[in-house]
Amino acid sequence: MTDLRQYIRDVPDFPESGILFRDIMPLLANHQAMDQAIQAMAMGVPPGGIDHVVAIESRGFLFGVGIAQRLERGLVLLRKPGKLPGNVRRHQYALEYGSDSLEVQADALRRGGRVLLVDDVLATGGTLAAAARLVRECGAEPVASTVLIELEALNGRERLDGISLHSVLRY
Ligand code: AMP
Repeated sequence: MTDLRQYIRDVPDFPESGILFRDIMPLLANHQAMDQAIQAMAMGVPPGGIDHVVAIESRGFLFGVGIAQRLERGLVLLRKPGKLPGNVRRHQYALEYGSDSLEVQADALRRGGRVLLVDDVLATGGTLAAAARLVRECGAEPVASTVLIELEALNGRERLDGISLHSVLRY
């Protein structure tokens, strides 16, 4: 087992002053490390299993594909506005400055379906909490979430009310 931390590059003051950015590009560039990361993230599957893996744009997609393949489940993408064709549902959520939105195709999830949410980093938890709300608005149940990196000092975990969180690396 490799220590995956050596594949995460810390970039101070990016994208703005005061932010310590956790850059996953060195991980992506190493197929064995990436394979180990996906295997570890897939351990977030809850007892009772899931029906769908739901990945969040954009770096959540990089892990969502591999996790869905490993768990032998279908993948559904939550996208930024205007990217998905057809009938979509949108959820708008507040950021520190301004707001953002996520969309999903209205027929992508089935009513009562159990969902595992996937993203690369949990920071404040706003993004995962918004994703969970959108999944619920579709009638499905976000039962668990999995991330590669959890920034513990920001307490994002507390915003996930009731949804279990699995994180591979904690900073
Ligand atoms: P949040 O909604 O605050 O939990 O932010 C989560 C989203 O922002 C994730 O999709 C990450 O890709 C990104 N993100 C937030 N903080 C960082 C960070 N320090 N390093 C890398 N990505 C981050």
